[in-house]
Amino acid sequence: MIKDRDVGESAYLPPEHVDSCPLCSHSTAREIATYAYYTGEGSLSVTLVRCRQCGLLFLSRGPTADSLRGHMERASYTNQEKSSSSLIARRQLFEGILKLANQWKPEKGRCLDVGCGHGDLLSLAREQGWDVYGTEILERLCHQVQARGIACVCNASLEGLPQQSFDCLTFIDSLYYMPEPLGELRHAYRLLRDGGIVILRVTNRAAWATILAPVRHVFPSPFRRIVGDALVHFSPITTRAILLQAGFSRVQLLPDPRRRNSWPPSLTLIAYGLGRITWHITNGRILISPGLVAIARRDG
Ligand SMILES: [Zn+2]
Repeated sequence: MIKDRDVGESAYLPPEHVDSCPLCSHSTAREIATYAYYTGEGSLSVTLVRCRQCGLLFLSRGPTADSLRGHMERASYTNQEKSSSSLIARRQLFEGILKLANQWKPEKGRCLDVGCGHGDLLSLAREQGWDVYGTEILERLCHQVQARGIACVCNASLEGLPQQSFDCLTFIDSLYYMPEPLGELRHAYRLLRDGGIVILRVTNRAAWATILAPVRHVFPSPFRRIVGDALVHFSPITTRAILLQAGFSRVQLLPDPRRRNSWPPSLTLIAYGLGRITWHITNGRILISPGLVAIARRDG
């Protein structure tokens, strides 16, 4: 069974227990770290583990769906980000995502952004000729997207949407908040028409979380920044594996296209710049960028 222990920290909220790996269903995992997860309503002690079978990092004890939603309602990213570097970074990311989508699907078609936030990606996609749709778990954001003239369903289950009705599905910084990411990608596969594409943007911090975990009490800030509030931490290996397991083929992984973000400029330059340079000089074999983009196709 997955290791779980009481660390004696004050747990104000009840944790949700995950009994097996969300990727391979294996039931044994090595504990990486236990730390406090702040939800806005209080904190709870969460446990990060690494699956002994596939290497996926995930919270074996994490927030419940309700406390996660409460946290997202309060988190800064649900408010309009005002810093110019954040806006530029988001624009760079969305332009990179759409460039990829347009290369793989030049005929375009219907695009669904799962967890569409403010709808910025969809708005840009619409300008480029896509017929756009969104889902969003937060009602306030969903209404903002609808006010932009974009069809957005609040808290929709992918399972309930019509099968084979989309040409592109995107999960931009949303998949790692989903307790069952493999199940969501399997639903995504069914929603796509033959030849349709899925694009993920996930963090690529599993290795750093593992490295920093033993020294997290000495360097608490970098560890907190690395683990953030994700429920699952992907790596290039587990990202490829989950897409293949969901049924997709022709998986391609790329470094995050951003050149700026809200981090200090020097850190951004080193982390993202080094990530792209390493990826290019190793001909795509080593991907150490803080975030990664994956694209795959549903073959007919
Ligand atoms: Zn696993």
